[in-house]
Amino acid sequence: MKILANDGISAVGQQLLEDAGFTVITDKVSQDQLAQAVNDQGIEIILVRSATTVRKDVMDACPSIKLIGRGGVGMDNIDVSYAREKGIVVINTPASSSQSVAELVMGHLFAISRSLNDSYKHMESGDFSSLKKKYGKGVELRGKTIGIIGFGRIGQSLASYALGSGMDVIAVDRHVAPVDITVPVGTKQKVTVQITPTNDLHEALPEMDYISLHVPKQTDGSAVIAAKEFSLMKKGVRLVNASRGGVINEDDLLLALTEGKVAGVALDVFENEPTPRKDLLNNELIACTPHIGAATLEAQDRIGEELASLIIGQFIKE
Ligand code: NAD
Repeated sequence: MKILANDGISAVGQQLLEDAGFTVITDKVSQDQLAQAVNDQGIEIILVRSATTVRKDVMDACPSIKLIGRGGVGMDNIDVSYAREKGIVVINTPASSSQSVAELVMGHLFAISRSLNDSYKHMESGDFSSLKKKYGKGVELRGKTIGIIGFGRIGQSLASYALGSGMDVIAVDRHVAPVDITVPVGTKQKVTVQITPTNDLHEALPEMDYISLHVPKQTDGSAVIAAKEFSLMKKGVRLVNASRGGVINEDDLLLALTEGKVAGVALDVFENEPTPRKDLLNNELIACTPHIGAATLEAQDRIGEELASLIIGQFIKE
């Protein structure tokens, strides 16, 4: 069987599939050429990350497709229910990237506490004393409270890092059962901390010094953080969004920054990917990364291995 890994696959995942007899094609095809490439090459399995979309039109045009695999969590780039109605198997790898996303968020939390992103950009100006004056107003993470909105796999992984950094954690989720969070201390010891999420976001918002979002794209497309929520936040709050574009209303975010309500923001995801609006990218209080939450060597290896094992399990009979 031929597999098109259109957004790439790790070497280890590719090897496992090839050893099992699959042909893996990694030459990237543009979105508008996808259906034709699938038909021309007799592709039966399409693997994507977040860049390629596999919608109804591609599935209708390509009767050879038997499986669509998403390396990662969110499946908003695939028409999943339509695929399943047509008998196409759809798989993803939900747990493989949680730790990497959590680490990116920690990086952003430290960065936006010290304006690292903006400082890096301006060091070449050579005006050391004005730069020192501008960027010498940082804050510490230890002793602060982080609100983690969406307390699933990634939210819980982030809680482990945040607790380890000496932060208090307020978890917000629709599910309010207590969760045991394991915090490694070095590689040989660990402590466990129990956290009980609240489902009352509005009541919890005023307590948070930092906020990180880990909800999926909402089914009705609505923003979880918009004008009302900004109005309830502490002045000087800092936010990170490494979940999905649109989960924060971008107009309301820019207004909250202009008004001084929000002191710093980091965005890994945007409403208009892959061409985010310029006023987000140019804003000195916003640190941007190009949707790289899961893009570590370790996560990509885990994703590739998990995809390979799911595909082999699906098609290779013992
Ligand atoms: P998950 O399903 O384990 O957890 C999501 C949690 O959000 C669930 O517990 C759910 O109950 C909760 N939730 C949903 N809507 C909510 C709301 N309005 N208010 C409060 N809680 C709400 O998912 P996960 O694996 O932790 O991933 C979270 C999201 O992170 C994914 O859906 C994906 O969009 C995003 N993600 C981004 C990257 C990246 O590269 N930046 C990588 C992986 C995942």
